[in-house]
Amino acid sequence: MIRAADLIERKRNGEELSGEDISELVLAFTRGDVPDYQMAAWCMAVYFKGLTGRETHALTDAMIRSGDTIDLGAALGRRVVDKHSTGGVGDKTSIAVGPIVAACGVPFGKMSGRGLGHTGGTLDKLESIPGFDVELEIDEFVAQVREIGLAIIGQTGDLVPADKKLYALRDVTATVDIVPLIASSIMSKKLAAGADAIVLDVKVGDGAFMKTLDDARILAEQMVDLGRRAGREVVCLLTDMDQPLGAAVGNALEIREAVETISAEGPPDFTELVLDACARLLALSDLGVDAEEGRARAQEAMTDGSARETYERWIRAQGGDPDLDALPRAPVVTEVRAPRAGVVTRLAALPVGIASLELGGGRRTKDDEIDHAVGVVCSAKRGQTVAVGQVLADVHARDEESAARAVEAVAAAYEIGDEAPPVHGILLDVVA
Ligand code: URA
Repeated sequence: MIRAADLIERKRNGEELSGEDISELVLAFTRGDVPDYQMAAWCMAVYFKGLTGRETHALTDAMIRSGDTIDLGAALGRRVVDKHSTGGVGDKTSIAVGPIVAACGVPFGKMSGRGLGHTGGTLDKLESIPGFDVELEIDEFVAQVREIGLAIIGQTGDLVPADKKLYALRDVTATVDIVPLIASSIMSKKLAAGADAIVLDVKVGDGAFMKTLDDARILAEQMVDLGRRAGREVVCLLTDMDQPLGAAVGNALEIREAVETISAEGPPDFTELVLDACARLLALSDLGVDAEEGRARAQEAMTDGSARETYERWIRAQGGDPDLDALPRAPVVTEVRAPRAGVVTRLAALPVGIASLELGGGRRTKDDEIDHAVGVVCSAKRGQTVAVGQVLADVHARDEESAARAVEAVAAAYEIGDEAPPVHGILLDVVA
């Protein structure tokens, strides 16, 4: 019989719990034998006292054992790579990376999530494509990765049910932003889905969970360590989320930008991140290339049209219409103009993400419906020189009233000054 109160007290007092204690707690909670209030109290004790590396590993392992696992590599007879981002504003990276990596001959099968709050989810973005089906069964998923080289679907089967339950509880008990709990939540899902090698993208900045590079590094190190303990190769990119990624924020707008990017016509910061992620994924694959050669191959797939062709085959395979003209368009498009001449010193990601959410592009609660057409396109980014009255951004809205509110919010996200801000690339650091 598990004594949850005892484990809460020991964690509250700063003791290290044994792997067995943690395993029993997680599995009993998943079965419903430990009530939400005790698990929430335990999470809060972890907020104050932390978890050791051993405890974080035990937690991750127990979460994986709470449900099914998939061995995609064995099913395909190939080394399988996966990527994951901690989420940010305008983050459509998987939608561009998947077709490029697959066009280079490396199978890419990914389970993605939905957005909640100001960060959008890959599945919501994909569902702006008319007909696109994110709900494949495991055998359909494996068959599509084998035949097309690419599938992105919602979490299927009974993968890591402990995380589903625990994340929902953390979301309403102020226990989401705890590094070892984030690390085990993300890595349990990645490890259960069976990839041999994983490229993680930890976002850093005002639009991300991790606000500082130091905190992001700690999360990255814990995730790399969890991967290593499970015998997988993990590389973690730390990337800038102080401004939106690329220009487009909003579901259909982001699909359009992802497709432009795989056709070598994307914005520079997003193109840079996509190439970097592809280079590292290809270097971890069974192609036997290093990151430099991986980058060259990814670049070629973008320019020779093979990534775009793979994209179209993939979208059709999941029932969607790959024609960009089929994507929904918002009826009202309003410009945000520069109030003065100068240089963009700041474009805050969070208010742009919230503006897109309030236009209807995101969810405040799990059951909200999404308007796939709306969003914001920030054509002027940090460091860009602008003339007075120049268009900084376009707001895509359902009606004039919501457009006016978003224009005000996006205008306030921009700061224009006289001196250029320090410039840095999208990639801030790498932990491997
Ligand atoms: N994403 C996850 O999957 N889990 C967390 O805990 C935080 C972000």
